[in-house]
Amino acid sequence: TVATPGVESEAELAFEGALRPKSLDEFVGQQKVRGQLQLLLRAAEMQNRTADHILLAGPPGLGKTTLAMIVAHESNRPLRMSSGPAIQHAGDLAAVLSSLLPGEVLFIDEIHRMARSAEEMLYLAMEDFRIDIMVGKGAGATSIPLDIAPFTLVGATTRSGLLPNPLRDRFGFTAHLEFYDESELEQVLVRAAVMLDLEIRSEAIAEIAGRCRGTPRIANRLLRRVRDFALVNDVSASRDAVRAALELYDVDQLGLDRLDRAVMHTMLTRFDGGPVGLNTLAVSVGEEAETVEAVVEPFLVRIGLLTRTPRGRVATRAAWEHFGMAERNSTLF
Ligand code: ATP
Repeated sequence: TVATPGVESEAELAFEGALRPKSLDEFVGQQKVRGQLQLLLRAAEMQNRTADHILLAGPPGLGKTTLAMIVAHESNRPLRMSSGPAIQHAGDLAAVLSSLLPGEVLFIDEIHRMARSAEEMLYLAMEDFRIDIMVGKGAGATSIPLDIAPFTLVGATTRSGLLPNPLRDRFGFTAHLEFYDESELEQVLVRAAVMLDLEIRSEAIAEIAGRCRGTPRIANRLLRRVRDFALVNDVSASRDAVRAALELYDVDQLGLDRLDRAVMHTMLTRFDGGPVGLNTLAVSVGEEAETVEAVVEPFLVRIGLLTRTPRGRVATRAAWEHFGMAERNSTLF
């Protein structure tokens, strides 16, 4: 749910919902995380207790929400969904926690954006299934302890580094989601094509898989744009149709979108390839530093266009080549 280009219509969001795998077996890729989750859920089931709290960390669109739903589904527990930005006061959290059903799975998306005042309440709730409600103000204020139902917290964050240590420590397990490889993305796409009732060639699927930033959500979105292109132009969903559709939507051969390219272009042209600090870079492209760090950078690092150094971000030789420019720094030496 972090900014990615293209506004989603309600129909598209509904489609995304329908596409979500319902079980760990149906979930493509993230093999390591799947195994870890399976063990954790199975152990809880054997002991007839709620599963330990789970933190899901990774860039947007890799399946954090989907996994939270699967945790609830696989353990046969109800799911309550909330998000960090919706918890602006401790009272917002108290209302959620005090109304949980026994064994419920509570999903808090973007948990790093929760109000600080709520965090402390969450520590206690996670550890002892208890919260302290403050009544009154000033010298007369008292806190009333309140037992809450045992629950499993599933937190999702694009930036686990932003979570305070005491909060991070209270999760029994942190799953680090990785970008998907092309064969995994092909599986995601084939599944979506079936649901869209779209006939599409395997080379076309492969082309999309190579250009969706290693991200299932983007794969599914590009597939819908290819479907539109084939429909409107009355052509089959071939590799050429994919290329034309993706060009129309500004997705390049590496799958970089406009913001990715703006960041790289700014680094190369305005900062001679770096090193440049995150905040300076973010201001230069008119984006928030958080978006650049959590959404843009991980993929650029993964495909080897950018590296992080103690002095700032640096463009690699591959970046100069991809953008068809001569490496400026190399002429200095
Ligand atoms: P955000 O943090 O931005 O909410 P997210 O990481 O929670 O993103 P999801 O909403 O879970 O991502 O997934 C986005 C879409 O990608 C979903 O519609 C889902 O169908 C699809 N998807 C994600 N992971 C997988 C997967 N492993 N297999 C198949 N489809 C997937």
